[in-house]
Amino acid sequence: MQNVISGAECPECMAEIYVGDDALVSEIIECTDCRSDLEITSVRPPVLSTAPEVEEDWGE
Ligand SMILES: [Zn+2]
Repeated sequence: MQNVISGAECPECMAEIYVGDDALVSEIIECTDCRSDLEITSVRPPVLSTAPEVEEDWGE
């Protein structure tokens, strides 16, 4: 059996991003088109969301 590479959509520019079958939830990947940092929120099916720009926890 062969691993199927699934496509997800960049929430910023709607480009199709290929998410490998070994991708992990909460992994950060970079959009090849707009270079946004995207967080994988789901792998089956692959869903991406914009990663927070700051790493510090500012609280709310
Ligand atoms: Zn993009």
